[in-house]
Amino acid sequence: MTVTAVVGANWGDEGKGKITDYLARDMDFVVRFQGGSNAGHTILNEFGKFALHMLPSGVFYPHVHNVLGPGVALNMIGLAEELKNLKDRGIVPSHLHISDRAQVILPVHILLDQAEEMRLGANQFGSTRSGIAPFYADKFLKIGVQVADLFVKDRLAQRIERNLALKNFLLPTAYQLPIQDPHEITELVSHHADAIAPYVCDTTSMLHEALNNNQAILLEGQLGALRDPDHGIYPFTTSSSPLAGFASVGAGLPPYSISRIIAVTKAYSTCVGAGPFVTELHGQDADVLRARGGDAGEYGATTGRPRRVGWFDTVATRYGCMIQGATEVALTNLDVLSYLDNIPIATAYALDDNTITQFPPTAELSQAQPVFEEMPGWRTDITNIRHYEDLPQTARQYVERIEALIDTKIRYISVGPQREQIVMKP
Ligand code: GDP
Repeated sequence: MTVTAVVGANWGDEGKGKITDYLARDMDFVVRFQGGSNAGHTILNEFGKFALHMLPSGVFYPHVHNVLGPGVALNMIGLAEELKNLKDRGIVPSHLHISDRAQVILPVHILLDQAEEMRLGANQFGSTRSGIAPFYADKFLKIGVQVADLFVKDRLAQRIERNLALKNFLLPTAYQLPIQDPHEITELVSHHADAIAPYVCDTTSMLHEALNNNQAILLEGQLGALRDPDHGIYPFTTSSSPLAGFASVGAGLPPYSISRIIAVTKAYSTCVGAGPFVTELHGQDADVLRARGGDAGEYGATTGRPRRVGWFDTVATRYGCMIQGATEVALTNLDVLSYLDNIPIATAYALDDNTITQFPPTAELSQAQPVFEEMPGWRTDITNIRHYEDLPQTARQYVERIEALIDTKIRYISVGPQREQIVMKP
């Protein structure tokens, strides 16, 4: 039984898409278990550059079964657009499976997400406005719509009527927006359901069968540990758990089946949206790192927003690896730091008169200041290196210092955005 989870150790955007795309070659199944089209996984491979939002990152391999599990927030319109975009570029995912127990994003979820962020004004959370928070709120209020409901017309009409009942008080009064007609929404949602019908099935039984047949399954996380509603930087968190611990729930697999947990982290830090970010850089230093970061600068794959950038934070990342239960780490974007003479790493936080190395709750985190040590840079292009011993000695020192500070084995080092730009660490 080999189930591998690829999850984020930080605030999201760590490069999980690249690592999943790399590992998917040896997988039979790639499964999304939470979140929705608020994800933005950037992938560069022999077919070109792609930003996947709803689809699992295994879609580029014809042999891989790609699954949207029960824990996912299914954006049917977004999914159809993504499939069309891929098709226009010659890629047709051969095996796509959508759980009949997943729930769907309704138009009102997106409307409310947008309206609420606008109402919050300067205090907004920096939501991607994809409807995720209202969607999960409805799921736990038990007024969501499951995929299986879409194909039973009377039931769908009832579910939508029930979902909209309270919202149709809220929309005109709190947001000055028109009410939503349940009948029209039922028709619209039904229409979108037709497009996904061929993919819908009982993915839970399918994955259990795969497990029993010893097939290789990869569970692909979205965002990162610090966005977990329980363990992250609440309230600047997301609305579903991006933890490997939840992956079994969101995919419908036994918890003990997950034997490898690969936590992905960048060689520096990035964070989209609001919230405390202890090692954040400002001014010119930030502009330079942002411009050099990722495959084309650090800008959100879903929103295009400039990402906040900072130095590597070992306090946050050790904590992220711990709550992910990481068995190993993939360190991405090491090549990005090649321009620096010296590279700061945050080894602790100064908080009041204390120096701490445990990641504190948000109330204290907001006051924390980084304590840095500096590592020598390597100032040479490493993007063509494929063997660990060929990396400059100072680059290896940087990697090994991080490994010691985060207390987790670094197994993969990514030295460029392309699939093959990867180094295995012995
Ligand atoms: P994800 O959501 O975790 O998949 O991460 P994103 O795709 O949002 O952001 C990661 C960014 O880093 C994207 O621009 C990737 O193309 C890029 N990337 C991933 N690994 C590397 C790497 O090793 N080097 C460089 N330069 N870019 C990378």
